Amino acid sequence: MKKIVSLILVFATLVVCCSCGATGDDTLSLTAMNTVMQITVFNNSKAENERVKGLLSDRIMDIDRLMDVNNPESDVYIINNGKAGSDISVSPETADIIAKSLEATQLTDNSFNIAVMPVVKLWGFHDGTYGVPSKENINKALSYVKPNGITVNTDNSVKKSMGVEITLGGIAKGYLGDELLKITKAEGVTALLSLGGNIVLCGDKADGSLWSVGVKNPHDDQGLACSFKSKGNKSVVTSGGYERYFEYGGKTYHHIIDPKTGYPAESNLLSVTVIGECGALCDAYSTGLYVMGKEKAVAFAKENNSFDFVFITTDNEILYTNGVAEIELSDNAFTLTAIQ
Ligand code: AMP
Ligand code: MG
Repeated sequence: MKKIVSLILVFATLVVCCSCGATGDDTLSLTAMNTVMQITVFNNSKAENERVKGLLSDRIMDIDRLMDVNNPESDVYIINNGKAGSDISVSPETADIIAKSLEATQLTDNSFNIAVMPVVKLWGFHDGTYGVPSKENINKALSYVKPNGITVNTDNSVKKSMGVEITLGGIAKGYLGDELLKITKAEGVTALLSLGGNIVLCGDKADGSLWSVGVKNPHDDQGLACSFKSKGNKSVVTSGGYERYFEYGGKTYHHIIDPKTGYPAESNLLSVTVIGECGALCDAYSTGLYVMGKEKAVAFAKENNSFDFVFITTDNEILYTNGVAEIELSDNAFTLTAIQ
């Protein structure tokens, strides 16, 4: 029987921030995917900026409509409520993101798994009805969390086995960033997209300098742990248990579920930041590597050279891969170590 919690805390704040000399005049804020997003377009006339911001916000709303787990018209809702064993038609974007999710599931040894939805629902993270489920219910829900419980067909349809439900919460913002980057590239503009914890650095800055990115201090909502520099056309995605959680009986329960146990991952990482050209995979990896914990995540980082990583451990160590440029501490409570 699910218990209703007496105290609910939800944090959904930006995790990575950037400085880029923006005046703020050309920043559009909007709410989508249950978070506040900000779009800043540089280098053009005011009218041009407005036009590009319009294209970007339309695309955000389109993708949000497809992937919102609580919207009865969304592809995800239709999949979750669809018949097991039959072909369920979806948009090309949904077929694409599910295919990328399945690739990430394989590469993270099931630590990232969109089929974790029955467990996410039990804990109430899909709609804010938080509660601590019974072990019996967790085990029942876990029986539907199969990595191969959903398949994508070539004709933009998917097939699922009985009881399988998906959440794209761990990858959708990263995928959205990739779609928005396609637009800024086609329009030839420089832009900074802040998608609720995910950052997309679109193009290079006009003065030729690198973008500056700050990684949030997991212990201090207002502060940074470290900062680094990055070239443009990259996504920077952070996952951490502090981003969203509730408290019950003196214990904290966060939103990143270990698909092996059905409980919030007991990670020795406080946050995982992934930097790379494919925002969807950065997002999936940030969630999956948080679940893996430090040792497996470091081994994963050593083997995946096309991405860069910044890990903050529960011992306040900041571990980073060699491609992270000019990394500096913002708070001396942390130590900085390169992953060799
Ligand atoms: P993120 O903030 O990118 O780490 O994603 C967390 C969100 O992804 C949660 O709110 C859930 O909707 C979903 N999720 C939780 N655990 C997992 C997991 N192990 N694999 C995939 N998605 C997950
Ligand atoms: Mg993620």
